[in-house]
Amino acid sequence: MSWKLQVAEMKKTYITDQEVWNTLHHFFYHGKTKTTYKYGFFKALLEACITANEHNEISYDAIFYSFTKIYWNLVIEDGLWQSNTRTQPSSVQKEIETFAQQNAIPPHWNFEKLTDTQKIELIQKVKQVGKKYVIGALYGDFNGEIYTFDLKREYLQLHPKYLLFLQTYKRILTNVTNYQLALFLEKFNELEKVQSLLTKVEFITERQSLKAFERLLQQAGVTACFYCNKTLHSKTHVDHFIPWSYFQNDLLWNFVLACPTCNTRKSDKLAAPQYLNSLIERNEALLNQEILKDNLNHYNAAKLEQLYTFAENNGIGGGWMP
Ligand SMILES: [Zn+2]
Repeated sequence: MSWKLQVAEMKKTYITDQEVWNTLHHFFYHGKTKTTYKYGFFKALLEACITANEHNEISYDAIFYSFTKIYWNLVIEDGLWQSNTRTQPSSVQKEIETFAQQNAIPPHWNFEKLTDTQKIELIQKVKQVGKKYVIGALYGDFNGEIYTFDLKREYLQLHPKYLLFLQTYKRILTNVTNYQLALFLEKFNELEKVQSLLTKVEFITERQSLKAFERLLQQAGVTACFYCNKTLHSKTHVDHFIPWSYFQNDLLWNFVLACPTCNTRKSDKLAAPQYLNSLIERNEALLNQEILKDNLNHYNAAKLEQLYTFAENNGIGGGWMP
């Protein structure tokens, strides 16, 4: 039984695209599932790919940050039941509900409203449950091909083929995951809770406010619109340089300040390549500021360039200019 494994090796070294598709089809359409773990964890994996180091390793802290946020918003913000039986909630749901109760969290709170200390405490708790029930199970769902793991070292190492594949087809894979997750939730939740369910699931990790990033960039000395260079007045927008539809991670190095006109016009498009170069220069400057260092974890220029190409390949329209 894969979910009981402590350490797992990669079963195969050479994998073709077709083999990955076959395994994914099996994962999405044939595996039986009693809870929403596999969809929540796969969503988290897609999101956490950006934190992979040069050995394709992702720390449990990074992946369980995403997993906890997704699960919290499903359970607390939207009040959705996560297992196929009304008598037994999934262990993660139970952990989260207990935490919310102990901390007197009001109903429908978004994960972002928790304090940093609460987030850290909860992520550690969810990680313990995830180590027991989720990591090995997903490994099994993917025939032991997708990653290796070591529960003691707390790292997953993705197969390089899978890492590239997940980034190359991220948008479509996210949509299919959302769809399957919604199908499951629809079956086991009351009618009133599943209203606009696809929208709820799609935007489950959207941040409530980007104010914190606005402040950080202002503190770093940004006073003009990143695109048209006009001085910013009271109405400043925080723009996802790589659009949210491809890149849902809230990372400082992907945010720029823009005037309302540029931000609205750019919308869900990619800016022209010269702006990519400007952003790389901007981020270099931020890296030199001691107070911002923690906000630039996992950043390097090559990663941003690669992300830009992936976004283009995922059908995000490019070449936008003010
Ligand atoms: Zn502008």
